[in-house]
Amino acid sequence: MTQTMPRPIIDGVERDTASLGRRALVNPATGETICEPPSCGAEEASEAARLSVEGFELWSAMSAFDRSKIMRRAAEQMRAEADEAAVEMTREGGKPLVQARAEWMASADLLDWYAEEGRRAYGRLIPTRAPDMRWAVHRRPVGPVAAFTPWNFPAWTPMQKVAPALAAGCSVVLKPAEETPSAGWRIVRALLAAGVPGKALSVIWGDPAAISSTLCAAPEIHKVTLTGSTRVGRILASAAGQHLKKVTMELGGHNPVIVARDADLDTVVPLSAEFKFRNAGQVCVSPTRFLVERPLYADFVAGVAEAAKKLKVGDGMDAATQMGPLSTAGQLSKIESLAADAVQHGAKVETGGSRIGNAGYFFEPTILSGMNPTMAAMNEEPFGPLMLVMPVDDIDAALVEANRLPYGLAAYAFTNSMSTERKIVAGIESGMLGINHFAMAMPETPFGGVGDSGMGSEGGIEGMDAYLRPFLVTAKVA
Ligand code: NAD
Repeated sequence: MTQTMPRPIIDGVERDTASLGRRALVNPATGETICEPPSCGAEEASEAARLSVEGFELWSAMSAFDRSKIMRRAAEQMRAEADEAAVEMTREGGKPLVQARAEWMASADLLDWYAEEGRRAYGRLIPTRAPDMRWAVHRRPVGPVAAFTPWNFPAWTPMQKVAPALAAGCSVVLKPAEETPSAGWRIVRALLAAGVPGKALSVIWGDPAAISSTLCAAPEIHKVTLTGSTRVGRILASAAGQHLKKVTMELGGHNPVIVARDADLDTVVPLSAEFKFRNAGQVCVSPTRFLVERPLYADFVAGVAEAAKKLKVGDGMDAATQMGPLSTAGQLSKIESLAADAVQHGAKVETGGSRIGNAGYFFEPTILSGMNPTMAAMNEEPFGPLMLVMPVDDIDAALVEANRLPYGLAAYAFTNSMSTERKIVAGIESGMLGINHFAMAMPETPFGGVGDSGMGSEGGIEGMDAYLRPFLVTAKVA
């Protein structure tokens, strides 16, 4: 299958050229150039921001019922394009085809869910203090939105922003990651074809710093939403703060997994190996620091090492592949140096630990045991296939290590004891906690972190609230 080249879309029109020329899209499994899409900068960002005002007027004037129908139509179109979309996502991002397809289909479900939720964005009547008064709270869309998304979930992360924003009546300028623009481009195309006005939804990419600084400063944009690293979160939140804009920041994490002495090893070992190496560990809620009570420690390490050795690493286009490459050369060298630093400070490589081959950006599924908090990998978000295992004396010690970092995105606990579970629920500092399983992001549930992992939530009714503002009407009635 030859890949259709993604192109920026402004005012409903796909652009063959852009102000910064072209930039190569690279396949991380082969290092080869896939195609060279047009690359945008401040010029296109200003244009899209300007148009988004008229787009907002048109889209927000439409009834929630009609907006919902358009969004549902787009979700159907997305499902029809699943095969092409999955291939593009695998070629650009490296994840196995089956995972890419599942992400694409889940993103269509997310669109459906918000299409319905937009029809239930109720206001409220408040009982007044005087009989001749009426207090009504309307909920209004916040206005045009600038949305920035990462490469690791190139369909799901744009949809987490575009779907609730459109459902609320906002217009959107989307900037997907330069490494993986096709999914965002395809989502926008489906929505425009289904009836979203061209001015209400644009997609551009190219020079992230130029685009984000332009959009954060543009008076037309009322809200900035980012899924990305803590580093870029600080840049965008500061830029938006200068202009007193609302923000949602879904940032990095370093997610602890507490394995209590009463946990069921037959459950925790295969699940840990499966979720740790999903998308080669490039998942914001990837389990990273495994804190295992000493009675289970040796068996846990032996079990996950055996499971990791069996994983089939390769090009995501190969149906047998379970783990693909890292997404960039930079990611690969970061993982190499974190593993080397851990070993230098006394960690033991139970399996993996090295780059695979010279073509593409492959790294072995790696288990490092004997980890301790002084090692760089226990402090920086690894974002790669490193499972870091540290023994702990008891649940109190596990909680101290779990809460040690300024991040607070996801946390996990495996235990069969109600009192241990209660202790962990009460003591953990994070936005989300998974007990005896790892699945996190669902359309119905809020998703978000605290501290350096960001602010605000996506998903669920909280995800809709992020694009609505209360508007009070207090009336004296005759
Ligand atoms: P990144 O922070 O480098 O980029 C995120 C987005 O911001 C991209 O579209 C990028 O182009 C854009 N951007 C805007 N202004 C920029 C600037 N001045 N400089 C650089 N980029 C700028 O993140 P990434 O490497 O694409 O993704 C990985 C990170 O995303 C990890 O830290 C991961 O934990 C995080 N993430 C968080 C969540 C979550 O929901 N909390 C989900 C997925 C990924």
